[in-house]
Amino acid sequence: MILIAAMAVLMPLLAALQFYWLGQVSDGERERLQANLSADAIKFKRDFNRELIRAYLSFHVDTSATLGDIERHHVERLEQWQRTAPYAQLFSDVFIVSTDEQGRPRPSRLDAAAKQFNPTGWSGEIANLRERFEQRYESARLQTEIASQSSLESFAADIPALIIPFPPLPPDKARSQRVPLPSGFTIITLNLKYMQREFIPSLIQRHFPAASETDYNLAIINRDHPQQVIYSSRHPSEDVNSSDVSMQIFGMDSGEIRTLRRDGGAPVAAGEQSDNGPMRSRSIVRYIKRQTGNSIAAASSGEEDGRWQLLITHQAGSLQAAVSSTRRRNLAISFGILLLLAASMSMTIVATRRAERLARQQINFVAGVSHELRTPLAVICSAGENLADRVVSDPRQVARYGTVIYKEGRRLTEMVEQVLEFAGAQSGRRRYEFRSTQVADLINGTLTACRAQTQESGFHVETEIESNLPPVSGDEAALKLALQNLISNTIKYDGESRWARLSAQMGAGERGAEVRITVEDRGSGIATVDLPHIFEPFYRGRDVVAAQIQGSGIGLSLVKQIAEAHGGRISVRSTPGAGSAFTLHLPVETQVGDTGEAKS
Ligand code: ADP
Repeated sequence: MILIAAMAVLMPLLAALQFYWLGQVSDGERERLQANLSADAIKFKRDFNRELIRAYLSFHVDTSATLGDIERHHVERLEQWQRTAPYAQLFSDVFIVSTDEQGRPRPSRLDAAAKQFNPTGWSGEIANLRERFEQRYESARLQTEIASQSSLESFAADIPALIIPFPPLPPDKARSQRVPLPSGFTIITLNLKYMQREFIPSLIQRHFPAASETDYNLAIINRDHPQQVIYSSRHPSEDVNSSDVSMQIFGMDSGEIRTLRRDGGAPVAAGEQSDNGPMRSRSIVRYIKRQTGNSIAAASSGEEDGRWQLLITHQAGSLQAAVSSTRRRNLAISFGILLLLAASMSMTIVATRRAERLARQQINFVAGVSHELRTPLAVICSAGENLADRVVSDPRQVARYGTVIYKEGRRLTEMVEQVLEFAGAQSGRRRYEFRSTQVADLINGTLTACRAQTQESGFHVETEIESNLPPVSGDEAALKLALQNLISNTIKYDGESRWARLSAQMGAGERGAEVRITVEDRGSGIATVDLPHIFEPFYRGRDVVAAQIQGSGIGLSLVKQIAEAHGGRISVRSTPGAGSAFTLHLPVETQVGDTGEAKS
């Protein structure tokens, strides 16, 4: 009882604690995953931007450069890049945009094989840039302020390309302009296919080794034109709002510029002394800011932040959804374990109760059997003693004493047989020998065996056997014992009627045709509370125990065991005060077949 109460309190408490703790663990896990993902994204952004800034710095030129110097410088830098840079194929073309006599921008393209720049039109990759350049040069020509604000961005995100201004014109040459313009621009167009197939995947592999394959979807889109998808993993989500991490890349990260400068500049320039060549500037950061207008213009145009957007989304929809589903799974598992615990505890309690009841019943059984044995033993002893002491010497009296001793001895034998039968059946050692048995022979044999008992009690036993009953496959001795038990009970619990009927007829059972043998009486009947339990071993009716009617409580359980071993069953109908009818249902021979053997 205490155990049940403790369980009733502890289980909900444990369930509530588990719910709360798992909630806490999930929150922590989500924060940890979010932090790791953001940290990885920052590293990705840093490496991505670094490569582009490296490229940018590799192609920048100093103030004192002439166009010829710049062209030679670019030829040399491109060769160096392709020889030494980790992503050698990052560029698809190098252009220079300089002004013609009319002050109009004219592009020329580097022919890497011939190592020279050849004039080209505003076509192909750079077609989109024409308008921007012409507008800018026009503004400069008309000497408007707009020139400074409409500075060309360092990155053209849509192409994509790097736009690197030449140093501004010396003041004497720029005198005609209110805002000094660069004398020209370098355009490095990036190899988008190479970026999609090599550059971005290798960075993803480096920074999101697990994410790229399994848990996360990655996408890179153009920040200003979100429909332009630069890169996407298998099942990308390009929704900026629903992504777990959204970070701008492809930007002029001034911190990164400083780092690269401090570390000796771009790798292609490695080994080159910073003050050696005419093409090095003192402060690239200041240089870029000056060239692109001013720092505010750079920031507002997104130069610092980046023109592309990296979106990382968990495959479950979001990190929150993934953590929630893990939490739900963990909750289900832990509640399942709790339920299992509760179920096993309940089963232990039930089993303990059953064991207790069985132990009590066994004690009652021992007491009952001992009690049953006492009466015949006492009769036998006293009759034997009288004979030995020659208290009776009259031959007729001696014969009467002999009959009493014989009868009591037989009763004892039957009782011992029954106990042994029960013990054998319980232990599974009992082997039934199935033979084709005629039901009429079985009933008549039982009645003969019980005759002494029925005659002694003045019982009238009617029989009603349907003609042409098919044989049953059975162990005759066991079936007789079962019927004897039922008849003994009718005598024991008869009351005053002294009447019983033994009938047999065909019937349709659940598994086919069956022979039904019914033992009926008009005795005390069975109380409704006892009825569900009378076939349990050692169970005795309450009224019967109160009335001190002798018995051990194994008779009916034995009948049930024998019926089931024959592939049949036992049923009972009873009306308290009016009588009972026990029916043995036995399948007809053809249907028992192997079943009976197997059950034996
Ligand atoms: P026992 O007769 O030794 O008590 P049984 O297993 O034969 O054990 O019977 C179990 C109980 O079923 C009996 O104690 C009694 O209460 C009830 N019972 C069995 N047969 C009858 C019957 N014919 N009439 C009334 N009650 C019966």
